[in-house]
Amino acid sequence: PQRSDCPVDKDELGRNTWSFLHTMAARYPEKPTQEVQKDMTTFVNLFSKFYPCSYCAKDLQEELKTNQPDTTSRSNLSQWMCRIHNSVNAKLGKPLFDCAKVDERWRTGWQDGSCDE
Ligand code: FAD
Repeated sequence: PQRSDCPVDKDELGRNTWSFLHTMAARYPEKPTQEVQKDMTTFVNLFSKFYPCSYCAKDLQEELKTNQPDTTSRSNLSQWMCRIHNSVNAKLGKPLFDCAKVDERWRTGWQDGSCDE
């Protein structure tokens, strides 16, 4: 078996999960119905209970107590997700990501065409 066929560690799990979360936000409706907004809020709160890194999940639940997801539009959800990711980046001493670039990173690809191949 190859390394990629083995259980994931915390960092690989994190990278894969951020790919999922940012891509989900990038494909979220621009004008979600009330029901869709409610479902996304429920999803994020349930996700925080089941994220399989216990101290990561605990910190996320703590954050959600005062900072619930902004599910009112694609752009607002993408920006909220970017801020949440940046708060984890800050905690880990990683550089902060420029949230103005979140669409290029996760939806359209970079303006220089480097994702077009
Ligand atoms: P990652 O942080 O995984 O980022 C992947 C890519 O996303 C980057 O290469 C960049 O292109 C892009 N990116 C970076 N920041 C942003 C942003 N703000 N918005 C949009 N795109 C961005 N690890 C811990 O050690 N302790 C924790 O408490 C912890 N909590 C976590 C909580 C959650 C909900 C998740 C999903 C992960 C958590 N992790 C935690 C894992 C951690 O965030 C990283 O995934 C891991 O350290 C690997 O980091 P990385 O440098 O490869 O890039």
